[in-house]
Amino acid sequence: MLNLGFLGLGIMGSAMAENLVRAGFQVTVWNRSKEKCDPLLALGAHPAENPRDVASQCDLTFAMLADPKAAREVCFGEDGVLAGISGGRGYIDMSTVDDITVNEINHAITEAGGRFLEAPVSGTKQPAVDGTLIILAAGDRSLYEQSLPAFEVMGKMSPYLGEAGQAARMKLTINMVMGGMMTAFCEGIALGRKCGLDGAQLLEILSSGALANPMFKIKGPMLLAGEFPTSFPLKHMQKDLRLAVALGDRLGQPLHCASTANEIFKEAIKSGCADQDFSAVFSAID
Ligand code: NAP
Repeated sequence: MLNLGFLGLGIMGSAMAENLVRAGFQVTVWNRSKEKCDPLLALGAHPAENPRDVASQCDLTFAMLADPKAAREVCFGEDGVLAGISGGRGYIDMSTVDDITVNEINHAITEAGGRFLEAPVSGTKQPAVDGTLIILAAGDRSLYEQSLPAFEVMGKMSPYLGEAGQAARMKLTINMVMGGMMTAFCEGIALGRKCGLDGAQLLEILSSGALANPMFKIKGPMLLAGEFPTSFPLKHMQKDLRLAVALGDRLGQPLHCASTANEIFKEAIKSGCADQDFSAVFSAID
């Protein structure tokens, strides 16, 4: 059985690591705020002092971190993954970051004698708990094959997308669409209510036609109730929009809707919604 490491035990990482422990893997965990390791240690995971120790002790080390800054610090920091990786050990970064960050980490890990795979996920808190994430993998093919038993525990599918950077590009493209859809949905509900339409009826009609989708179905009633229990933090959606807009900039691809959605999400952060669910962007619109 593979000896696994897991770095980053936030909303997603804690559920993913728990599934690995429950599936019988030996898992060594680390999180910047140490107390988040406790529930995993109680289930039988092993503690580690820092990412370097995890990477040097484990066959495969997974990471699920907030953003490019966190991914860089955990890899390149004094006691980071890079300081511990060697001998063909694997580092699999599942955080949503941009392709520039992916390539810097890929290059450094490979130079140090390790293997690197990026594997950002599609799906939110409940799919992470249920082990039904969609895992988008790109980078070292041998590491992809070796990671499949763990991916099968954490996800329902794990397509291989090619060279490192392609998974970040796929993930940012998908989340850019999601961020734009959420702002359009919120504007629709706000407009409908302003002109006296019944909110529940609006949702029912929307979900009966071509615009039916699971996100509107799950988030719609919460928007009407003004409740935003955090599944996907709003600050992370703004980060994804920001990174997608920057990718479009680099490629000369106009992204009018995504740029506008990015500004609306920034407005929501300014008004104190950073840690609420991304659907709380409604409060910047309604
Ligand atoms: P989260 O709950 O905010 O957790 C973020 C994790 O990153 C925590 O473990 C945090 O440590 C760590 N971290 C932040 N800055 C750090 C730093 N400078 N150094 C070391 N560790 C740092 O986020 P999440 O919802 O689990 O999301 C994790 C990643 O998955 C993000 O890239 C997000 O975009 C992506 N994602 C999320 C969802 C979702 O629905 N939630 C879905 C798909 C993808 P502390 O505990 O010490 O703060």
